[in-house]
Amino acid sequence: MKELTHYINGAHVKGQSGRFADVYNPATGEVQARVPLANAEELAFAVDVAADAQPGWAAVNPQRRARVLMEFVRLLNRDMDKLAEALSREHGKTFPDAKGDVQRGLEVVEYCIGAPQMLKGEFTDGAGPGIDIYSMRQPLGVSAGITPFNFPAMIPMWMFAPAIACGNAFILKPSERDPSVPLMLAELMEEAGLPKGILQVVNGDKEAVDAILDHPTIQSIGFVGSTPIAEYIYGRGCSNGKRVQCFGGAKNHMIIMPDADMDQAADALVGAGYGAAGERCMAISVAVPVGDETADRLIEKLVPRIEKLKVGPYTAGDDIDYGPLVTREAKERVLGLVNSGIEQGAKLVVDGRDFTLQGYENGFFVGPHLFDHVTPEMDIYKQEIFGPVLSTVRAGSYEEALKLAMDHEYGNGTAIFTRDGDTARDFAHRINIGMVGINVPIPVPLAYHTFGGWKKSAFGDLNQHGPDAFRFYTRTKTVTSRWPSGIKEGGEFHFKAMD
Ligand code: NAD
Repeated sequence: MKELTHYINGAHVKGQSGRFADVYNPATGEVQARVPLANAEELAFAVDVAADAQPGWAAVNPQRRARVLMEFVRLLNRDMDKLAEALSREHGKTFPDAKGDVQRGLEVVEYCIGAPQMLKGEFTDGAGPGIDIYSMRQPLGVSAGITPFNFPAMIPMWMFAPAIACGNAFILKPSERDPSVPLMLAELMEEAGLPKGILQVVNGDKEAVDAILDHPTIQSIGFVGSTPIAEYIYGRGCSNGKRVQCFGGAKNHMIIMPDADMDQAADALVGAGYGAAGERCMAISVAVPVGDETADRLIEKLVPRIEKLKVGPYTAGDDIDYGPLVTREAKERVLGLVNSGIEQGAKLVVDGRDFTLQGYENGFFVGPHLFDHVTPEMDIYKQEIFGPVLSTVRAGSYEEALKLAMDHEYGNGTAIFTRDGDTARDFAHRINIGMVGINVPIPVPLAYHTFGGWKKSAFGDLNQHGPDAFRFYTRTKTVTSRWPSGIKEGGEFHFKAMD
């Protein structure tokens, strides 16, 4: 069986701990590789390498650092299909989705090529007699990132591209479910000219994460994953004096007003609810039609569209709508929640429980599900399902729909579908959620804006990518300088006494 490695000091390094995790092909259910799980000593070794390499990298001027990212973009485009194939094989998402995963990471790398501009700092000329003030953004030193399984290319790049552009060394602890693409990215960064030790991949589970949280040299930690782990990492990392940003789970509501274009809303819901098997933190998992008539019209439009969805392995072609879930446990958890929805009184309008695929009986596929008459007390409403399950909660009015989304503990993304500008504007202003779509179901901001939720979906002050990334991966130093001002008289400088 294929044995994966860590990537430390510019080389593939075998695991020393003796502990491994299985990496599956989710379409077949077979174990295709095993990944080593690092212990604290292995992590500490990578940190030492990073700490040695980082000052040299910080001394490279920002434009030269940016050139490495420029070349990395070229290599990502060169290897796009190879990366997407490796990603689909471990994650299960369709090939076009896997390319999208790489592409959305690549766009943040492109944005980070602007680092020389972002790192310029500020200058006040003549703040007093002979006094100038300037501030500069300096790297933190060694940063670390802990990433989830669902975007194994994009999220690592969202972290390491700005960190490295700012002059830091970066240690990535990717998800143990799909670790191959992060290893490939580290190789490509070095092919692009990055010195050894500036980007390293240490594979692992809680043991490696705890070692990151407690290592005194690591200055900052970025985390993306589920909310309980986000809270844990935020608490322990901050109490160890580190700068920490953690992005957690989601339950994204889409409000459908009676005046919405119902075909457009139904198409949007199917893409946003079932795309990538619902394994997206920006997936829409709750539809909130306003008024019973709107709800009936919406359900009528949704059912045939959902029944037409093609579920299959990425190898079956680009017209597949979504693939398997990532693990058998994920599949069992999703089906368990579907059963709880039925037991708690929701109406299952589309039932995907018996879904099977010939030749892939052991794969982790789950058919699409649609619930109607879901209420806020039900587990399928309270919990993030992270599967192809859309819940409909009927609201009597716009205010009721707004309150529903506002009262949910998660606040990652949301959307409203309406033709009324007033309603849309009111919604965008009042909603307590970080990313809002108006007739846009998945409002993921582009690289030059920032990405982040509110409430239990994010912990920390700064968002991912956009200008916030440059703030997160640098600290500001402000210099106040005073020089006696000279007055040129007869070719000589005469300095006035300093007051
Ligand atoms: P997860 O929380 O299980 O794992 C995330 C990372 O934490 C992995 O690297 C994993 O190895 C590590 N980890 C797991 N258990 C740990 C523990 N007990 N102690 C320390 N570290 C631990 O999340 P996942 O299943 O990989 O990803 C799905 C979750 O990520 C969903 O909740 C999804 O909403 C969320 N997500 C959020 C965003 C966002 O930007 N808000 C983006 C993508 C995914």
